[in-house]
Amino acid sequence: MTEIRTRFAPSPTGFMHVGNLRTGLFAYLTAKHANGTFVLRLEDTDKNREVEGSAEHIKECLELLGITWDEGLDVGGAHAPYQQSQRLDIYKAWAQKLIDAGRAYADPYTPEEVQTFREQAQNEKRAFLYRNHRPENPPIWDGSQPLRFKSDPKPYTWQDEVMGELKSGPEVIDDFILIKSDGYPTYNFAHIVDDAEMQITHVIRGQEFLSSQPNYMNLYEALEVEAPVFATMPHILNENGNKKLGKRDGAKDVLDYVREGFLPETLLGFIATLGWNDGTEQEVFTKQELIEKFDLKRVQRSGARFDEKRLLWMNGQFIRALSIEDLATRIEPFWPEAARAAEPSYKAKVLTLAQDRLKTLLDLPALTTYFFTEPDADISLINTNKQLARLTNEERDTLLTSAHAALRELTEWNADSIQECLNSLLETTGQKPGILFSLIRIATTWAPFSPQLNDTLELLGKDRVLGRLQQAADLLK
Ligand code: GLU
Repeated sequence: MTEIRTRFAPSPTGFMHVGNLRTGLFAYLTAKHANGTFVLRLEDTDKNREVEGSAEHIKECLELLGITWDEGLDVGGAHAPYQQSQRLDIYKAWAQKLIDAGRAYADPYTPEEVQTFREQAQNEKRAFLYRNHRPENPPIWDGSQPLRFKSDPKPYTWQDEVMGELKSGPEVIDDFILIKSDGYPTYNFAHIVDDAEMQITHVIRGQEFLSSQPNYMNLYEALEVEAPVFATMPHILNENGNKKLGKRDGAKDVLDYVREGFLPETLLGFIATLGWNDGTEQEVFTKQELIEKFDLKRVQRSGARFDEKRLLWMNGQFIRALSIEDLATRIEPFWPEAARAAEPSYKAKVLTLAQDRLKTLLDLPALTTYFFTEPDADISLINTNKQLARLTNEERDTLLTSAHAALRELTEWNADSIQECLNSLLETTGQKPGILFSLIRIATTWAPFSPQLNDTLELLGKDRVLGRLQQAADLLK
C-alpha cells in the first residue's frame, strides 16, 4: 500500500483562524490515522499579500495544539525546501516541460488589452475566457511576460472524499497563468508542482478552491502526473448557522482563545468536531482518540455551526479532567493580584474547589478573589437575584443574623459540620435552599458564582465567615 502523505500549505497572509486550523488538523489526522506523513509547506508566492510574522505565528499555533509535522518548514525532509519562494527554479523547470510540450505560452497582451477583451465579453453577455484570445504566434517566453497554460477544455466527473461525485463542463476550463511577470508562480501552478514533487496523496482544503478544481485536473493531465485524492471542507457557519463565520463571531486569531483561558486540547477537540463526528454521541475527544477515529468520509458536506457555548462547555470538561498539579501549572498566570503572596498550599485548596466551576482559566479571579482579600459588597447581586429580590431588607437581615448565630455555635469547622448546620437552618427558618444558601453565599463572597457553599465557608474560615455575615447584615439594615 502507498504511504498516505498529506500537507498543510498555509500562506503567510495574516493570523490563523479556526477555519485554517481545521484544514491543517484534518490533514494531520488523515496522515496520523494511517501512520502516514504530515508535511508543512509555506505558500509565500504572493508577495503583495504577505504579512510579516505570519509564518512564525502559524508554526506557534500548530505547536501549541500539538499538530506536529514530520516534514517541512524548519524540520526539513527529502523534498526541501518547503517554502515556495525558495523553489522558483523547480517551478521554472516544470514550466519548461510544458513549454516544450506545447502546453504553455507567453502572454503577449498588456493588462489593458486583456481588460478590453473582458469588457467585450461582458457587453456581449458571455463569460470571458482567455483561451478565446490565444495568440497565434506567441513570443518566446523570456520571463518578462506571464506564462499561461494552454488548456484542453473538456468535461470532468470526479470524486471528492467529502462532497461526493462532482461534475463540471468544458466552459470552466481556461488558460490560467502559471508564472507571473514578477517571476513567481501562481498558487494554481505552484501547489500542483509541489504536491506532485512531495508525493502528496490527499489534498484537503477549503471550498474556495472547488471552482478551480477542473482546471487543476486539466493541468495534472498536461503534466502527466496522477491527481491526488481531493477532500473539500464544509464552511464554518456562525452560531445561528445562517452565514459564514465572520470576525465578530469567532473567526479570530486562534492564539486569542488561549489568551482568553481556553486549553489547547479544548481547541483541538472543538475544531475537530466542526463538521466531523465519529458516528456516536461522543462529543469530547482527546488527540489520541481523534487520531484513532478520524476518517475523512465522516466529514459532513453541509456547513458546520460554530457554537461558542459548546466551546465553553467543552473547555469546562477538559479543565475538570486535568490533575490538580497540571491545572495549577497552567493557571499560574491567571491568579488574581490578591493571590500573589498567598501560601501555595492555600492556593492549591482554593484551586481544588474552583476547578469544577471554571469554564475558562480566565474565570479564576471572579471565582476566587474573595478567598484572598475582603470583597466589596455589591447589593446588585442580591437585587438581581429573582428569589432574593422578593425578600424585604428585614427578612434578609433576619436570615443573615440567624445564619451568623447558628454558625457561631459550631465547635468543629469543616464542610460536613457546616452542611449539617445549614440544613438545620433550612428547617428553623422555613426557607428554601435557593433563598437561604444564595443569600449566605453572596454575603460571604460577593461574587456572581462560587464553589459549593459548605466547601467555600470551610476554606474561608470561621472568623472571616462570621465577620462577613455580620457586615452584610449591618449593610442591609
Ligand atoms: N495556500 C493556500 C491557502 O492558504 C492553500 C490551499 C491548499 O491547501 O491547497 O489558502
